[in-house]
Amino acid sequence: LFGYVGIEAVLDQMRIKTMKTGFEFNLMVVGQSGLGKSTMVNTLFKSKVSRKPTGPGYEERIPKTVQLQSITHVIEEKGVKMKLTVTDTPGFGDQINNENCWDPIIKYINEQYEKYLREEILISRKRKIPDTRVHSCVYFVPPTGHWLRPLDLEFMRRLSKIVNMVPVIAKADTLTLEERAEFKKRIQKDLKAHGISVYPQEDFDDNSDDRILNNKIRDKMPFAVVGADKEHQVNGKRILGRKTKWGIIEVENPAHCEFPLLRDLLIRSHLQDLKDITHNVHYESYRMQRLNESNR
Ligand code: GDP
Ligand code: MG
Repeated sequence: LFGYVGIEAVLDQMRIKTMKTGFEFNLMVVGQSGLGKSTMVNTLFKSKVSRKPTGPGYEERIPKTVQLQSITHVIEEKGVKMKLTVTDTPGFGDQINNENCWDPIIKYINEQYEKYLREEILISRKRKIPDTRVHSCVYFVPPTGHWLRPLDLEFMRRLSKIVNMVPVIAKADTLTLEERAEFKKRIQKDLKAHGISVYPQEDFDDNSDDRILNNKIRDKMPFAVVGADKEHQVNGKRILGRKTKWGIIEVENPAHCEFPLLRDLLIRSHLQDLKDITHNVHYESYRMQRLNESNR
């Protein structure tokens, strides 16, 4: 009797529901000035995520970010609307004394949790609470090829506790392939030695399939990325890349850099997981702490 549940029909219903309501996905980029954060935001929007971008902010190029600034694009694919917002942060750690330079970023992240919490505890609450919570924070590590600096470690240590932290090696075209590989291993070792657990955290692998997939990703992290916001014509095709004296570094070509891995992780394979962990782990611990405080 119960041999056939009709999962297909359930999936259809879920799809239709998502089509109607759409969904929000919020990213943040952090790192020192000049590491290519703003360029990466443009790269993300110009790459195959959204060949037909809409909404305000497009083609806007701000030379130096002085304050937290969000750009939103509504991307529509197969009838489903995704509202993708990327928050660009000012040069983080640009001061001589970088003590507490993470405060504005932590504040912003917590403010979004607070906004959500306030809506959620209302007696008559919205059927769908607007979600501005940061689902992933991409941290730009300078391509020194040496070690993580104390500032990098301190930032990631603090932030990985409140948000899904995804470190990347910035401007990876400045490193040789060997240097990239070596730097990557060092960073992995550094993070481990300092007990910093970046996304995807091993603790949250749901099952052995997840574990196998995520182990492969963890092994490749932090992704060595290259950003570009200019398109070039190559054999009649439009290619997003950096033109150099020696040729074009194609940012969407997996043979050239790992930007495709970053984009796929964020926007494709792990988008729902990033949202789930934000809600069930990071937001949940904020909520518990806040409600505990107000009960005292
Ligand atoms: P931000 O201060 O972190 O926002 O950095 P920007 O995006 O403004 O980039 C600073 C400079 O670095 C600009 O001249 C960019 O063209 C350049 N740049 C951005 N991304 C890359 C990259 O991946 N590789 C190289 N070589 N240069 C880059
Ligand atoms: Mg910038």
